[in-house]
Amino acid sequence: MRALGRLLGLVWPLRWPLLGAVVLGAATVGSGVGLMAASAWLLATAALHPSIADLQVAIVGVRFFGVARGTLRYAERLLSHSVTLRLLARIRVWLFRRLEPLVPARTGGLHSGDLLTRIVGDVESLEGFTVRTLGPALVVLPVAVGVGVFLLRYGRELALAAAGTIAGSALALAVAGWLLGGRTGPALSVARSRLATAAVELVQGLADLTAAGRTDEAVAAVTEAGGSVTRARFARAVAEAGLDGATILAAGGAVWLAGRIGVSLAGAGAVDGVGLAVILLAVMAAFEAVEALPSAGERLQEQRAAMERIVAIVDAEPGVRDPGRPEPLPSRAPEGCPVVRVEGVRFSYPGGARPALDGLDIELGEGERVALVGPSGAGKSTVIALLLRLWDGWEGRIEVMGGDVRRCLQGDVRRRFAVLEQGTHLFNATVRENLALADPTVGEDALWAALELAGVAEDVRAMPDGLDTWIGEQGLTLSGGQRRRLAIARTALLDRPVLLLDEPTAGLDRATEAAVLDALDRLARGRTSLTVTHRLVEMERHGRILVMDRGRIVEQGSHPDLLKMNGVYAALHTAQQTLLE
Ligand code: ATP
Repeated sequence: MRALGRLLGLVWPLRWPLLGAVVLGAATVGSGVGLMAASAWLLATAALHPSIADLQVAIVGVRFFGVARGTLRYAERLLSHSVTLRLLARIRVWLFRRLEPLVPARTGGLHSGDLLTRIVGDVESLEGFTVRTLGPALVVLPVAVGVGVFLLRYGRELALAAAGTIAGSALALAVAGWLLGGRTGPALSVARSRLATAAVELVQGLADLTAAGRTDEAVAAVTEAGGSVTRARFARAVAEAGLDGATILAAGGAVWLAGRIGVSLAGAGAVDGVGLAVILLAVMAAFEAVEALPSAGERLQEQRAAMERIVAIVDAEPGVRDPGRPEPLPSRAPEGCPVVRVEGVRFSYPGGARPALDGLDIELGEGERVALVGPSGAGKSTVIALLLRLWDGWEGRIEVMGGDVRRCLQGDVRRRFAVLEQGTHLFNATVRENLALADPTVGEDALWAALELAGVAEDVRAMPDGLDTWIGEQGLTLSGGQRRRLAIARTALLDRPVLLLDEPTAGLDRATEAAVLDALDRLARGRTSLTVTHRLVEMERHGRILVMDRGRIVEQGSHPDLLKMNGVYAALHTAQQTLLE
């Protein structure tokens, strides 16, 4: 229920247009009632052969209500859909704002398919909240009251009975829908989420699954998940059919009751035959307002469940919090101060058996080119993650440009770094759009200069549309080397003093690797850089090499010095040389 309260809180700023839509909705049903009542009166009276003049007002009434009904419904839909779209926009912005600080520390427990379902599916299931749930529920009351007031002329008992059956049926059907939805809705959401998770896993892992010959099992998992969605949908369809039948029965019961009272009123001479026809058709028409209620109740369950899942994300504690009174962070390190200083940092991932960083000390001087190497699992990528403020909960001290990162805004700290990862994401867009990610206003000359620096300008010139060539999802139309160089060009366009390079040449052949290393040399000029690498190739390019093992620096120095030391680095180097030969 708390989740629905939050949803209503998001609807609250849209209350006036929503109220307008409710008034228009009630007026639409009112016009339907007017149309039926005027038609009934017209037909029943016409059967008595009065003069045409006696029928004039009713004829005009039928025309008026007929036109008004369509026009009002159109206006109501226009307004209610505009409220819906504005509500969805509000929810999405609210969700994304809250989601950003949770990545990755608080989203690690969610499958990407599950996260996708929450962001896309759950938000979409809130789409009908105003149009199909709240709106119809709010329209019923004025319609019931309006019909009651209209029928008062025939007798108080009839008016109360008609208004009571309309409001009572609406309530009973909405509750029935809610209860049935409670049984079918959660099963459907769980089944949908499982299907999304299985489908995303299949698509993302297709290449590996094909290579391992395991596609059949993955497809079977998706089929199984699809089957549970079908079963859940079937159960829902059965429930909905039952509710539809109950709605027709309720409408019939209300007309029957109004007819019984009307007949007894006619017996007492209070109502004539024409009046009886008007009563019956007016009550029948008013049930238009009740028809939407069972599915409104049912949807409310689904919407409540969707909102609860969204609220669970939104209310999660951010992985890293900004300080209450942040200190400004200089864009350059003060004279004599290292650009980055890591002192005695200890950090364990949640649930981690041993610390990923265990008393780590690192200093990067202005303009220094440093490599960070070590065996797999030594904690190299964790160093980058902590510098970028992706995780909190570490002990020790990290300074960037002389500022204690815990006392500064995360955004300020991140803006000091340009990151180039092995799997840098390229968007399904043009070369230009991919390059201009950091600054959409960047000029043509700067773009070409960055491409030259990355050594990929020739390739882009040869593309069919040059800078405006579409590169496909994840740069699918490019070679591995081109993708990496495009990522280097994008990094070059970021005016950041420190470069963090995570395995920048992994997965490339020797010739491409050498070209990419040349491009990285050009990129690193005038900047401070920290390169995490497994591959101990052309390590002379780095001024200093830090060797990490089990979360701490165990050796450091230049490539020849480290070889002479004959320690961890020399062992790693020898092992790799043997493999490369
Ligand atoms: P590699 O060279 O294989 O990439 P690495 O030196 O970069 O390894 P890290 O990725 O920093 O090592 O990992 C250090 C330790 O932390 C490892 O034991 C790893 O299993 C663990 N670890 C890394 N990321 C997470 C995570 N998100 N959650 C839990 N444990 C993690």
